[in-house]
This record gives sequence, structure tokens and C-alpha cells, in this order.
Amino acid sequence: MAKRDYYEVLGVEKQASADEIKKAYRKLAMKFHPDKNPDNKAAEESFKEASEAYEVLSDADKRSRYDQFGHAGLEGAFGGGGFGMNDFTHFDDISDIFGEGLGSIFESLFGGGFGRSRSGGRRNKGEDMQLTLSLTLEEIAKGVNKKLKLNVKDNCESCNGTGSADGKTKTCTQCQGRGQVMQMQRSLFGQMQTVVPCPTCHGKGTVIENVCKKCQGEGRVGKIKTIEVQIPAGVAEGQYIRMRGSGNKGRNGGENGDILVHITEKEHPRFEREEANLKLRFPISVSQAILGCEVQVETLSGKIKMKIPAGTQSGKTFRLRGQGLPYVNSSYTGDLFVEVIVMIPHKLSREEKELYEKLAALENTEHYKPEKSFFSRMMHLFLT
Ligand SMILES: [Zn+2]
Ligand SMILES: [Zn+2]
Repeated sequence: MAKRDYYEVLGVEKQASADEIKKAYRKLAMKFHPDKNPDNKAAEESFKEASEAYEVLSDADKRSRYDQFGHAGLEGAFGGGGFGMNDFTHFDDISDIFGEGLGSIFESLFGGGFGRSRSGGRRNKGEDMQLTLSLTLEEIAKGVNKKLKLNVKDNCESCNGTGSADGKTKTCTQCQGRGQVMQMQRSLFGQMQTVVPCPTCHGKGTVIENVCKKCQGEGRVGKIKTIEVQIPAGVAEGQYIRMRGSGNKGRNGGENGDILVHITEKEHPRFEREEANLKLRFPISVSQAILGCEVQVETLSGKIKMKIPAGTQSGKTFRLRGQGLPYVNSSYTGDLFVEVIVMIPHKLSREEKELYEKLAALENTEHYKPEKSFFSRMMHLFLT
């Protein structure tokens, strides 16, 4: 298959600025991020394709070579096999998209963590743990530290993590002690013969003679641990935080897995959320609407004063700037939209009733004509 044009991959013009290129890549990275598309080969390919295009077009030298000579101009730029995610040097440009999630891309695509050698980087890595954290809007507004009690696989003290009851080992018969075996692997570049850690001895070359009874030779046992999660302000339903290395300990001395904390949002009794903006319905009386008033409006950080001008219609919305939620890793804050609802009293005192009757006699209905736009909207409702 012919390689696609890098500009086409990112959907930008040939003259695109560095900023436009970055924006386009961030959009694609968010869409095709492997953590968001588990076991989706096509998304993985697209993620990689976009990353390659970005790696080239964000580098002035590589970009000019590509502009002059096309793909041929970059031959050898990424080593023998062409571009691999290990050649990608711009994690910082998208690291905020998924919090700390970036590192995981390299593991999920290459089986080896970024910055570690490809061979055996993920050897015996502990399983990732998934958990869900339900947060109130108040917690989301400020950010919150949560302590979670989890059953995490940790070092077996009985065998000191070795998995062996007596410390004795013997040479592994599958790999004859080499710790590695040859295997055909389907990769992003087609079939490849690769050296992988031996599945029997997990790359050690030796196997345990007498298995530790406490951990059945895994070198790890379940323990209740308290894990502290820091949730930044402004998170939203569907996002998650990856705590690298906080998950299960790997088998036989393998590295720790991660904990993925998925965020859900508790429904708030009064506020509705729309991204970083909040919406609140605020009841006022007929006389408050007619004469105008000053009210105390609830926000997520306490009450604040709001002026309602004389002659305010029911349904009118006021915007309180900066009283919404913060954006993650940003100084920008959303707004609070207060929709005023004029409440018609169900019960009146005798005196109130008399006053309303007096008022009714005085009222000039000429002042009550709906605005034209309102009228046509109503007609539309009746006719459809
Ligand atoms: Zn043990
Ligand atoms: Zn072996």
C-alpha cells in the first residue's frame, strides 16, 4: 500500500503553520488513542500514521526534506524498519489529553515501555487495574485527593518475591536456559521473526524446583493497600487517570502494572453541567421580576449576589462569568448560566388577593403584547 501524504493524513494545507499542524495532530491523537480504542487495529494504525506525519511535519529539517523529495527524502530517518512509535519525540504535545496516559501507547503498540529496550520491556508486567470513581461537581470544581483501599498483588514475603520455597532452581527445558525463544509475530510491518521471552521461565532461563506455597510460585500475593489518587480540577465523565506502576506487581519480579481510574460524575441536585459551563434554574416571585431585585445565587464555591433588573421575563438567562468549572490543566474557567423562572403563587392571602384585584383593574393589557419573535414561535408550535 502506498504511503499517504503526511499533510493529507493530518488534514492540513501544505502551508500549514506549526500551530495548525499541532492542533490537527492533537485532534487525531485524541480520536485514535489506543487506550480509547482497545483492540482496534484500525485505530492503532491511524494513531501511528498520524504520529509519524506529526513527527516529520513538526520538525523543520524533516519537513523541508519531505517537501522537496517526498517520502524518499526521509529514507533512513527512522532506522531500518521505518517509523516506529519509539521514534516519536513529541509526547509532551499531547500528554495533557489523557493525563499521564501517554506512556501506555508505547506499551500497547510495542510491548516495551517507552525509553526501555524493546526486548523484554513488558516481561511479566503486572496486570493493570480498572476502577471507577464517582465524583460530585464540588469535588470536580476544586480537584480532590481520594484514598482508595484496593486488593493489589504485591511482593510475597514468604519467598521474598522469588516464588521458590527453598531458593533452588533448575535450567528451563524449553529455552535451554537462554531465557528467549524465536517466535513469528504479526507486527505493524507484516510478519516478523522476533525473539521473545521464554513463556515457560518468563525469560529467566531457570525454573523453580520447589514452588512457594504461599504464592504458588508467582512471587506475589494479594494485599490490601491504600492508594492515593489525585484528581485534577475540571475532569469530566469518561476521562481517566492512569497511575503508572501503582497496579499489580508483575510475576517473578516483573514490573508493576498500572491503575486506571475512570471518572464518573454524580448528578447534582441543582446544577447541570455542559463541559465547563454550569446551568442553574433560579425561582423568583412576580413582584421581584416586575420591580427588579438583588438575589443570592448559589455557585459551587458559595453564594454570590446577582442583580435582576426590573421587567425581567421568566426564562431569561444571566451569565455569571468564571463561576463554572475549570478546564483541566488550564487557567480558563467556564461560566454559570442562571435561568430565572418567575413563579406564580398557588395561594394568596386575602390582602394579596385584594391587591391583585386592584392591579387587575388598573392593568393596561396593551403592555402585554408578546414580542414578535415569541409570537411566531408560538404559532409555529400550534401549527406543527
Ligand atoms: Zn512466595
Ligand atoms: Zn525458558
